[in-house]
Amino acid sequence: MNIETLFGQSSTGGDSGLILKSDKEIDTMRKAGKVVALMLDKLQKSVYPGMSTQEMDVIAAAEIKRLGAKPAFLGYYGFPATICVSVNDQIVHGIPGTLTIRSGDIVSIDAGAIVDGFYGDAAITIGVGEISSEAQSLIDITRNALTHGIAAVKVGNRISDIGANIQRYVESQGSFGIVREYVGHGIGRSLHEDPPIPNFGAPGMGPLLEIGMVIAIEPMINIGGKETKTLDDGWTVTTADGSLSAHFEHTVAVSESGFEILTTV
Ligand code: MG
Repeated sequence: MNIETLFGQSSTGGDSGLILKSDKEIDTMRKAGKVVALMLDKLQKSVYPGMSTQEMDVIAAAEIKRLGAKPAFLGYYGFPATICVSVNDQIVHGIPGTLTIRSGDIVSIDAGAIVDGFYGDAAITIGVGEISSEAQSLIDITRNALTHGIAAVKVGNRISDIGANIQRYVESQGSFGIVREYVGHGIGRSLHEDPPIPNFGAPGMGPLLEIGMVIAIEPMINIGGKETKTLDDGWTVTTADGSLSAHFEHTVAVSESGFEILTTV
């Protein structure tokens, strides 16, 4: 997938057809974002070696219910769980099940919530028990890649400035695979809105960022090559070469001061 394909024909601000959010709507999205952050925090504290990914999903379901929100992923195109749990070489969209987490694993958790019709979406990758220094570096670089992407969010910049920042940073850290097929997205009353937000590419392309835009930025970085494959379950995406992968995501609003991260407590 190349960046021209992603952005298609309409690539300027104003008349881009993007759905801008009012202050009141962004306030609701703050609530959805807080639920997602609290879910991820709860899961991070709950994971231990020997736990199954299904047990993680049970915790997530209980937490979102306790917080009075609805799960965003359950039933989405038939997805059967509250969260996505992607372990080691799994990149995204892992279905919770019988897989047991072991010490040394890295576990990507993607969570989404709906509050009063608006969505929040975020992801983290955590190390369980003692992980290799290589795995820890991958996690740190992917978290930093998200920070670099978010740093490009300000009025007057364009969407592709985000991915350009991410790619420049990741490539400065060594030889890593930046996943191409799965990208960030606009978010609001739908989980996935325009525009797509790639984690790579040249700067200065795509829609202009403007106040009221809310986007989910989500770099997925592999230790090995960027190529992916999908397992027979039709959901779980893994690295083609079996190398480890990490994923971090925040839902971010374009604000007067630049950006505001909504998926935070
Ligand atoms: Mg997302």
